[in-house]
Amino acid sequence: MTDSRFAEPFVTRFFERFEVKSSGCWEWWWGLTSAGYGRFWDGQRQIGSHVWSYEYHNKVIVPKGMEVMHSCDNPACVNPNHLSLGTTKDNAQDRVKKGRGARGQRNGSAVVTDKEAERIIRLLNARMKREHICTTIGCSKYTVGKIAQGVSYKHLPRGEQIRRRRRQSGLSNKQARYVIRLLNSGMKRKEVKELVGCSEYIVGCIARNETFKHLPREG
Ligand SMILES: [Zn+2]
Repeated sequence: MTDSRFAEPFVTRFFERFEVKSSGCWEWWWGLTSAGYGRFWDGQRQIGSHVWSYEYHNKVIVPKGMEVMHSCDNPACVNPNHLSLGTTKDNAQDRVKKGRGARGQRNGSAVVTDKEAERIIRLLNARMKREHICTTIGCSKYTVGKIAQGVSYKHLPRGEQIRRRRRQSGLSNKQARYVIRLLNSGMKRKEVKELVGCSEYIVGCIARNETFKHLPREG
C-alpha cells in the first residue's frame, strides 16, 4: 500500500494507542471524542481511529454515505474483526435493534437515547458541525436540530454546565507529556494540535507552562 496515510509512523502510532481487552476489543485510550470514538491524525485529517483501522486492515477507503460499524458495540474499539461497513441508516437501525434507541422513541423519528442526546448537546456546545454530529452519533439531522433548538430532550442539562465539564476533562498526563516532547522538538503549535487531536488553546497553555506544571519540561 502506497497511501501516505498508512506510512510507517502512523502505523506505529496506531498500534501504540490501544489496549487489547479480554473481550477481544482493541480499546483505544489515546484521544476519545465525547461520543467515545477514538481520534486519529492520519497526516491529512482527523478521523475516527476505528475508521483508520478499517481502511488500513481492509485496504479500502470508506465510501461517502457509509460508515464503520462496531459489532461489539464498543465505540472505542479498533479491532478490525469487530468492524464492518454500513450506511448511516443501518447504524441507526442497529442501535434501535440493540435497544439503544428505544427510550427516546416517542413518535418514531427520535432514535437516540438520553445518553446519546447528552453527547449531542456536548458536541453542539463544542461547536461541531451538525452534519458531523449526525455521522458520529448515527442519527438524523432532524434529531440534532430538535435538540439544538431545545425542543426535544428538554430535561437534559444544557450549555455552560456541560461546557465546563468538557474543559476540565482536557488531556491525560500521557498526552500532555507527548505535547511537551513535540514542542521541544520544535514542532509548531498548530501541528501539535492536529497530531494530538486537542485544541490549540491547550497546547498554548502547556507551552506557557500554565497547565500540567508538574510535568518535566526539558528533554
Ligand atoms: Zn470490539
